[in-house]
Amino acid sequence: MTQRIAVLGATGSIGDSTLAILAMHPDEFDVYALSGHQRLDKLLILCQQFRPQRVCVPTAATHDFAKRLQNAGLDTDVVGGETGLIDIATDNQTDTLVAAIVGAAGLPSTLAAARAGKRILLANKEALVMAGAVMTNAVKMHNATLLPLDSEHNAIFQCLPPEIQRDTTQIHAPKYGVRKLWLTASGGPFLQQTFAQMQQAGVAEAIKHPNWSMGQKISVDSATMMNKGLELIEACHLFDLSEDKINVVIHPQSIIHSMVEYSDGSFLAQLGSPDMKTPIAHALSYPERMDSGSQPLDLYALSGLEFIEPDLQKFACLRLARTAMQAGTQATIVLNAANERAVSAFLAGRIRLTDIADINEQALNQVSTGSLGHDADIEEIMAIDKVARKRTDTLIMKLA
Ligand code: NAD
Ligand code: MG
Repeated sequence: MTQRIAVLGATGSIGDSTLAILAMHPDEFDVYALSGHQRLDKLLILCQQFRPQRVCVPTAATHDFAKRLQNAGLDTDVVGGETGLIDIATDNQTDTLVAAIVGAAGLPSTLAAARAGKRILLANKEALVMAGAVMTNAVKMHNATLLPLDSEHNAIFQCLPPEIQRDTTQIHAPKYGVRKLWLTASGGPFLQQTFAQMQQAGVAEAIKHPNWSMGQKISVDSATMMNKGLELIEACHLFDLSEDKINVVIHPQSIIHSMVEYSDGSFLAQLGSPDMKTPIAHALSYPERMDSGSQPLDLYALSGLEFIEPDLQKFACLRLARTAMQAGTQATIVLNAANERAVSAFLAGRIRLTDIADINEQALNQVSTGSLGHDADIEEIMAIDKVARKRTDTLIMKLA
């Protein structure tokens, strides 16, 4: 049966990789809906190519975009803003949601999809950082399916037995022998540079990732290693583990995408070219396999694989993520919000790259610890997020 797919965040980097795979398999997948926030010219071209039934754009752009579609001879249904995203995510016709919006903006539609019992392919890690237990609880209660697209989490998922893949709470059963998870990190563009050099880095250097081609925000997060911090929190929620069961190791070649350590001393790893098409194809076709169009790994051409312990002074964001995870949901919401504001201030040239960690730490110091209930509502989460953003903007203003 054809799987009907909604790609929210279709104009971004994950959107590109997803649509490239969907275009290769027209008989298995139907592109039912798309969304884009900026670059609406690109979204129009995607609508012409994939002919989705529905499309979501920012509310202010709905009228104009509907006209442009009409002029192009398309009768696509146009919806707008957050309610439009939720409408698509919960639509009866949507089988699978590819959650590829960046940042907190992706949370409401992803959570709504969980509550509507959808199959969710999650790239939007910020949703889990903000709403971890609320999201995993919604998945369980409403019989939804959550499959990780983030390459590290997808790798770990692949290295776990099917019993744990189906029910992650089984990860605690001694018979499966899971001892630890190992998240690999590239170390980003500043791995070989000093803190002082990192301090002077401009935007162009910071977003030039050595191995992966990605959107701006996650590229900056990779440079500060906040990305690995967010992924640590993401992994705790996805795999039902406390942060001390998850190690981070720098592996500059990005060939091993992560590992599971077992009680008998086995380490299971997933390897591949650094190309998001592999984890996306895995999740789209799970539990089967299909061609992703990515370059096969050339093992003869690999000169060596390195593993390095991260320097938590240089990459303080990684340390902050552990602190926040120990403190609870309020702290992880605040850390995510502060980081989003700090990254956009850096991209706007207002603060230095290394200021991001300082700002995140100051924002974290302002929160009272505590977790939200499993059934907390989205308004509660967004309210904490909003206050944190305001406070962070004040911190940035003082610094800039
Ligand atoms: P991107 O910046 O390339 O694309 C982001 C998408 O979100 C675009 O379609 C944009 O229009 C949309 N968007 C932005 N702001 C929005 C808003 N306020 N409301 C609605 N839509 C909005 O980002 P990306 O690199 O594709 O990353 C997307 C998500 O996937 C992020 O959460 C990122 O952490 C995660 N991720 C990305 C990669 C990667 O290789 N790019 C790998 C793992 C995880
Ligand atoms: Mg990742």
